[in-house]
Amino acid sequence: MTQPHPGARQGDPGKARRIVLATRNTGKLTELHRILSASGIEVTLASLDEFPGAPEVAETGRTFADNALLKARSAARFTGLAAVADDSGLCVDALNGMPGVLSARWAGGHGDDQANLDLVLAQLADVAPPDRGAHFACAAAFVLPGAAERVVEGHLDGRLALAPRGTNGFGYDPIFLPDSSELSTAEMEPAAKDAISHRGRALRALAPVIAELLDG
Ligand code: IMP
Repeated sequence: MTQPHPGARQGDPGKARRIVLATRNTGKLTELHRILSASGIEVTLASLDEFPGAPEVAETGRTFADNALLKARSAARFTGLAAVADDSGLCVDALNGMPGVLSARWAGGHGDDQANLDLVLAQLADVAPPDRGAHFACAAAFVLPGAAERVVEGHLDGRLALAPRGTNGFGYDPIFLPDSSELSTAEMEPAAKDAISHRGRALRALAPVIAELLDG
């Protein structure tokens, strides 16, 4: 079992409002900081990068919630701090909800965005626009060591374009057309995407849960 990081003192009241985000992605850290600040929650956020030796967690869960909890529990156990983690992906109606939790490694290698997108487009080559429904999903987990854990979810409904559009964002953004927009998520400004995105929705839903559990 993973030992707590030497710098982590479990139960230290001075650390009660310090939260570790179980990712090394600075974009996610910035986004979470923005959302928690807007919710009026005063916390200090730490990245997993600040804890050398923190284990990489295999995303072996069958659901986004399972994987988010795996990552948050691991970060909480290692650091002794309250931890937030998210897991997300694209669910395509014509593929029975896949790639789902396999979104980052759909074409084989982990994180090859272009290959993943190309494969989904190829798989939908014969699927007409009315049947190209899809949604992005995100589960966000909060774990307070030894006390409580919660998971909330956010969705963004839409459909898949016939060809890539736009250069912003990452992953499947160039082929995702939200129901509420004429633009693909890769054609939207980052703040506009945050306002409607699955991740933005999940993290905004998590903010009051964090406040309640930290103060409770
Ligand atoms: P993770 O939650 O960071 O592990 O992301 C899983 C995978 O889902 C990413 O590698 C992308 O392929 C896909 N994904 C999740 N959210 C988005 C998004 O907002 N836009 C495009 N692709 C996404």
